[in-house]
Amino acid sequence: MQLTQSEAFKNVESKYPDINKAILRNLETVIQIRRDLRQHPELSFEEKRTSSIVANYLREWGYEVQEGVGGTGVVGILKGKNPGKVIGLRADMDALPMNDEISEPYKSINEGVAHTCGHDVHTSNLLGVAKVFSELGLEKGTLKLIFQPAEEIGKGAKAMIDDGVLENPKLDKLIGLHVAPNLDVGEFSLANSKYDCAAVDIFELVIEGKGGHAAHPHKAVDAVMITAQVLVAMQQIVSRQVDPLKPVVLSFGQIVGGTKGNILPSTVTVNGTVRTLDPDVRNQVPESMEKIANGIAESFGAQARLDYQRVTPSMSTNEQAKNEFGELVTELFGEESMHWLTPSMGGEDFAYFSKLVPSLFFRLGSRSSDQTDYSIHHPKFDIDEQAIRYGMTLFSVLSYKFLNE
Ligand SMILES: [Zn+2]
Ligand SMILES: [Zn+2]
Repeated sequence: MQLTQSEAFKNVESKYPDINKAILRNLETVIQIRRDLRQHPELSFEEKRTSSIVANYLREWGYEVQEGVGGTGVVGILKGKNPGKVIGLRADMDALPMNDEISEPYKSINEGVAHTCGHDVHTSNLLGVAKVFSELGLEKGTLKLIFQPAEEIGKGAKAMIDDGVLENPKLDKLIGLHVAPNLDVGEFSLANSKYDCAAVDIFELVIEGKGGHAAHPHKAVDAVMITAQVLVAMQQIVSRQVDPLKPVVLSFGQIVGGTKGNILPSTVTVNGTVRTLDPDVRNQVPESMEKIANGIAESFGAQARLDYQRVTPSMSTNEQAKNEFGELVTELFGEESMHWLTPSMGGEDFAYFSKLVPSLFFRLGSRSSDQTDYSIHHPKFDIDEQAIRYGMTLFSVLSYKFLNE
């Protein structure tokens, strides 16, 4: 049964009345900011308009602001009346290189760029939390807001860390979230495992044979046939070489080779991605790929070249923080609002932060109808904006509790 908003927020209203009121005062403004960001999406490391909007609001609301952190990142700091712990909240700001196909007035006006991963929601949600604490003030401790660029290419978190975002002041805890169209508005999820989501690696495989006429294959070295065998054999790394209790995904998303049906091309290029949870498996897979590619290519007189790149590590967050989050959601919104799910084989570059700071990363339900049922990275992805009220509430309450306990 779907609770109405006022029923669902009864507990928040009675336990955290000031936070609840501040959120309601600002929710409409935050939704307008979100629509403006959705309409003006920017690609990874090009979030100039977005980060200047963020920096301007933060300054207006009394935050100490650092711009250009890790490229286009922004940091906002709010100090309490008394010293204490430091809590970090993180949002990513970048959009994807694809078309926006929603039919709302806030559809992207930037051709070929779209906020179809919901980072517009993350950014506006965090600005909303910034506004809440600028109105309420902090009794003690420090709030550090991290607006990160370039999550989609897995580089923004690391760039900000290299630029010192985790220093001055150092964080005692960091929290992030991602919208989740697989959950209804008012629902939350965490992974029921040591790992929250997968390590992301990408690769390019080139098989170099010898071109020739398709009618005389014995005079050529057929790169197409060799590639086919290499790809089939590589799938058996997953089924035959890796511990079956440790998940691996090995996918080939692009094959390029040849120009015409009766010409054997001299080279074939394959691009793909590997997803793993366990770091040892992450090391094992490229070694096996290399052996298989070289072995099969050599046996047919061809050469193989594997260019393998590690993008983001798998994400592991703080177990105690996860349990406390589960308890808080249950206390505020009821047991049925909290879901413990298997980890995602998708990636999230928040993993770089979670390696260095005790962290929490939760999924925020954003679905309420067919219109909000599209997956992230789908051209029609959109959210029910009431999800923002839940996102602002959890970020605010978690920060308040952490700084005051
Ligand atoms: Zn994404
Ligand atoms: Zn995303």
